[in-house]
Amino acid sequence: MARRVSIFGATGSIGQNTIDLIARAPDDYDVVALTGSSNVAQLARDAIALKAEVAVTAREDLLDDLRAALAGSGVEAAAGQEALEEAASRPADWVMSAIVGSAGLKPGLRALEQGAVLALANKESLVCAGELILKTARENNTRLLPVDSEHSAVFQGLVGEDMAAVERIIITASGGAFRDWPFEALQHATLAEASSHPNWDMGQRITIDSASMFNKALELIETKEYFGVRPDQIEAVIHPESLIHAIVGFVDGALMAHVGPPDMRHAIGYALHYPERRDLPVARLDLPQIAQLTFREPDLRRYPALRLAREVMERGGLSGAIFNAAKERALDAFIAERIGFLEMAEVVEEVLTRFEADPGRIDAPMTLDNVMQTDHLAREMADHVMAERAG
Ligand code: NDP
Ligand code: MG
Repeated sequence: MARRVSIFGATGSIGQNTIDLIARAPDDYDVVALTGSSNVAQLARDAIALKAEVAVTAREDLLDDLRAALAGSGVEAAAGQEALEEAASRPADWVMSAIVGSAGLKPGLRALEQGAVLALANKESLVCAGELILKTARENNTRLLPVDSEHSAVFQGLVGEDMAAVERIIITASGGAFRDWPFEALQHATLAEASSHPNWDMGQRITIDSASMFNKALELIETKEYFGVRPDQIEAVIHPESLIHAIVGFVDGALMAHVGPPDMRHAIGYALHYPERRDLPVARLDLPQIAQLTFREPDLRRYPALRLAREVMERGGLSGAIFNAAKERALDAFIAERIGFLEMAEVVEEVLTRFEADPGRIDAPMTLDNVMQTDHLAREMADHVMAERAG
């Protein structure tokens, strides 16, 4: 029987890779919903090709364009936040969460509430609301499957293992666009320079987050939330080849590494076919040709985001939501060329410090309302901090 699947963030980098896999075996899937935001032309093309029930754009101002592009196809068109949530509430067996940013949280929760397995690329959901999203999965007798490559690698390393035997989890980082730049040059790094990744082909935001290692910072927090380990059990190491994605260390000293090509279709395909393994259209590695794998310690002066992630993991509560929201606003400002590359971490650190004056907010119960309100306040605070610095 065909499986019912939906893809949130279908027009993005993860979404398009997911569609690539699904389109190779169209008879295996009934596509329920595809969603996007600005790129309605792509959304409509894919929705028609995959015979989706509904296509949703997050942008209400683009509903007419989407309707026009879908005219006569039989695919329903919808727009806006409520439409996204409604689409997530439609029964599906498997839902890909690949919207970028905290905007991905609500649709993911809706999908879990109707019992779907949630393939989670949207790392911000776990960073902002780890406890809430895991609880929602438990209460609805379903589960999350990690799609972030490092977390998929850890997950695969844990199959058949007892969590009590896990000593450490090591996630690797490419080091991003500036790993070989002198520190002094980072101050003048441009948007174009930060937007190209040495190993992976991804959306612009995560590519810039790789250069600053805010991406790895989010992933450290994501590791703590998803696998329930202590912060001191989680390490990040620079591995410029991006072939080992993560390593699980056990109490007997064994390290189990996950090795594979830097192609997100592996992690997406693993989550799509779990618990089976199926043939995937990814390159096979030639080890003699690779010849060597190298590792280095990340320099915390160059990557202050990693230090901030440690503070957030120790602090817990809603500090992840504050960290992520401040990071999203600082990234918006860097993309708009209003602040410099190194300033992003300074803004996030300042926002975290100011929230410390209101510990009740950080320790408020993790409800959806509290998370969304905190996200909103942290964005306002980030804007305020940036306005002060500019003035
Ligand atoms: P992209 O920027 O390529 O795509 C983002 C998707 O979200 C697009 O479909 C976009 O629509 C949609 N979108 C943007 N803003 C909103 C909004 N406010 N509401 C609803 N939808 C919106 O991102 P990626 O595919 O690179 O990343 C997606 C998620 O997966 C992120 O959380 C990222 O951190 C994570 N991830 C990505 C990896 C990768 O290899 N790319 C690896 C691991 C994790 P449109 O384009 O039509 O405007
Ligand atoms: Mg990753």
